[in-house]
Amino acid sequence: MARLIDVDSTVKAISKLAEDMSINDRAVALLLALELNNEDRFPTVDVAPVKHGHWIREENNAHVEPSGICSVCGSGWLMSDTEYFLWCPNCGALMDEVSE
Ligand SMILES: [Zn+2]
Repeated sequence: MARLIDVDSTVKAISKLAEDMSINDRAVALLLALELNNEDRFPTVDVAPVKHGHWIREENNAHVEPSGICSVCGSGWLMSDTEYFLWCPNCGALMDEVSE
Protein backbone atom coordinates (compact mmCIF):
# COMPACT_ATOMS: atom_id res chain seq x y z
CA MET A 1 0.00 0.00 0.00
CA ALA A 2 1.28 3.46 -0.86
CA ARG A 3 2.19 5.72 2.05
CA LEU A 4 1.03 9.30 1.73
CA ILE A 5 2.91 12.18 3.31
CA ASP A 6 2.11 15.83 3.85
CA VAL A 7 4.71 17.47 1.58
CA ASP A 8 4.32 20.92 3.15
CA SER A 9 5.02 19.53 6.64
CA THR A 10 7.89 17.40 5.30
CA VAL A 11 9.51 20.39 3.59
CA LYS A 12 9.18 22.42 6.81
CA ALA A 13 10.73 19.56 8.83
CA ILE A 14 13.65 19.21 6.39
CA SER A 15 14.20 22.97 6.40
CA LYS A 16 14.19 22.98 10.22
CA LEU A 17 16.68 20.09 10.31
CA ALA A 18 18.86 21.90 7.80
CA GLU A 19 19.34 24.80 10.24
CA ASP A 20 21.64 22.63 12.39
CA MET A 21 23.56 21.07 9.49
CA SER A 22 26.91 21.94 8.02
CA ILE A 23 26.78 24.23 4.97
CA ASN A 24 27.20 21.32 2.53
CA ASP A 25 24.58 19.12 4.22
CA ARG A 26 22.25 22.11 4.46
CA ALA A 27 22.51 22.67 0.71
CA VAL A 28 21.63 19.03 0.04
CA ALA A 29 18.69 19.14 2.46
CA LEU A 30 17.32 22.35 0.95
CA LEU A 31 17.65 20.92 -2.58
CA LEU A 32 15.70 17.87 -1.41
CA ALA A 33 13.03 20.16 0.03
CA LEU A 34 12.84 22.05 -3.27
CA GLU A 35 12.53 18.81 -5.22
CA LEU A 36 9.71 17.58 -2.98
CA ASN A 37 7.77 20.71 -3.93
CA ASN A 38 8.11 19.87 -7.62
CA GLU A 39 4.73 18.31 -8.43
CA ASP A 40 5.89 17.43 -11.95
CA ARG A 41 8.58 15.16 -10.51
CA PHE A 42 6.49 13.37 -7.88
CA PRO A 43 2.95 12.17 -8.50
CA THR A 44 0.24 13.61 -6.30
CA VAL A 45 -3.18 12.30 -5.37
CA ASP A 46 -6.23 13.97 -3.91
CA VAL A 47 -7.09 12.74 -0.46
CA ALA A 48 -9.69 13.74 2.06
CA PRO A 49 -9.39 13.37 5.82
CA VAL A 50 -11.41 10.48 7.22
CA LYS A 51 -14.16 11.51 9.62
CA HIS A 52 -14.72 9.08 12.50
CA GLY A 53 -18.03 8.65 14.25
CA HIS A 54 -20.40 6.20 15.85
CA TRP A 55 -24.07 5.39 15.70
CA ILE A 56 -26.24 6.78 18.44
CA ARG A 57 -29.05 4.30 18.89
CA GLU A 58 -32.50 5.77 18.86
CA GLU A 59 -34.60 3.37 20.89
CA ASN A 60 -37.84 5.30 21.34
CA ASN A 61 -38.87 6.44 17.92
CA ALA A 62 -41.91 6.22 15.74
CA HIS A 63 -40.23 3.82 13.32
CA VAL A 64 -40.90 0.11 13.26
CA GLU A 65 -37.19 -0.62 12.82
CA PRO A 66 -34.52 0.53 15.24
CA SER A 67 -32.55 3.45 13.93
CA GLY A 68 -29.18 5.08 14.41
CA ILE A 69 -28.16 8.72 14.39
CA CYS A 70 -24.74 9.61 12.96
CA SER A 71 -22.63 11.26 15.68
CA VAL A 72 -20.91 13.41 13.04
CA CYS A 73 -23.73 14.84 10.91
CA GLY A 74 -26.83 13.90 12.90
CA SER A 75 -28.62 12.13 10.07
CA GLY A 76 -30.82 9.22 11.06
CA TRP A 77 -31.05 5.85 9.34
CA LEU A 78 -33.19 2.78 9.76
CA MET A 79 -31.01 -0.20 10.57
CA SER A 80 -31.47 -3.55 12.21
CA ASP A 81 -30.11 -4.26 15.69
CA THR A 82 -27.28 -6.35 14.28
CA GLU A 83 -26.50 -4.80 10.91
CA TYR A 84 -25.37 -1.22 11.12
CA PHE A 85 -23.77 0.69 8.24
CA LEU A 86 -19.97 0.81 8.49
CA TRP A 87 -20.05 4.28 6.91
CA CYS A 88 -22.61 7.04 7.27
CA PRO A 89 -24.48 7.19 3.93
CA ASN A 90 -24.91 10.96 4.35
CA CYS A 91 -21.48 12.31 5.39
CA GLY A 92 -19.21 9.32 4.76
CA ALA A 93 -17.94 9.11 8.36
CA LEU A 94 -16.30 5.80 9.25
CA MET A 95 -18.24 4.40 12.16
CA ASP A 96 -15.28 3.04 14.13
CA GLU A 97 -15.54 5.15 17.28
CA VAL A 98 -16.54 3.40 20.47
CA SER A 99 -19.79 4.91 21.69
CA GLU A 100 -20.34 5.68 25.36
ZN1 LIG B 1 -23.02 11.25 9.04
